[in-house]
Amino acid sequence: MGSSFRVLRIAGISVELHLSWLVIGFLVTYSLAEIQFPHDHPGWGTGLYWLVAAATSLLFFGSVLVHELSHAIVARRFGVRTTSITLFIFGGAAAMESEPRRPRDEALIAGAGPISSLLIGGLLYLVDLGVQQEQFGALLGWLGFINLTLGTFNLIPGFPMDGGRILRAILWRIRGDRYAATRNAAAVGQMVGYAIIALG
Ligand SMILES: [Zn+2]
Repeated sequence: MGSSFRVLRIAGISVELHLSWLVIGFLVTYSLAEIQFPHDHPGWGTGLYWLVAAATSLLFFGSVLVHELSHAIVARRFGVRTTSITLFIFGGAAAMESEPRRPRDEALIAGAGPISSLLIGGLLYLVDLGVQQEQFGALLGWLGFINLTLGTFNLIPGFPMDGGRILRAILWRIRGDRYAATRNAAAVGQMVGYAIIALG
C-alpha cells in the first residue's frame, strides 16, 4: 500500500504503518498528556503525563494490531491467507489473498476482530478495578475504553467495516449469492453512513 512502511513481520504477515498513523499517534499522545490525564489526575508533572501518554498510545497501536491479527488468525483457519496488515488513521485493514469460501467463514473472520477488542476492553476494565497505582490505572482505564469503542464501532453494519461484512455473510447465507449480498450490504452501509451524518 502507498504511503506506508513496514514496522514488523508476524507469522509471515507484514505489519505496515500508514503515514497517517504518525499523525494519529501524536494526536492521541498529545491529547492524553495535555488534556485527558491532567483533567482526571491533577498534579503528576509534565514529564510523567507525557511518559504515561506515550506508553498508552503505544499500547493503543498494539490494540489495533491485535484486532487485525485476530481477523488474520481466524482467516488462516479457513484457508484464507493474510499478506499484510496496514494500520492507518481509522484503525487497520488486513489484506487477504482470497475471499472466504462460505458465509459462515466470512462471518467468523469478520467477527473475530470486534470480539477480541471487546474481550480485551472488558478484561482491561476488570484489571483496572484491582489496580491501585494511579498512572497504571489511568493507562488501563483509557485502553479499556478505547478497545470497547473499537469493538463497538466496528460492529456498525456499514460495509466494508466488520459489521457490514457480518451483514453480508448473513445476506449471502439467505440469498445464496455473494455478489447480490455485497450490493445489499453496501447499500445498508451507505444508509448507515447517512444516518450517522444526519445524527452527528
Ligand atoms: Zn476489524
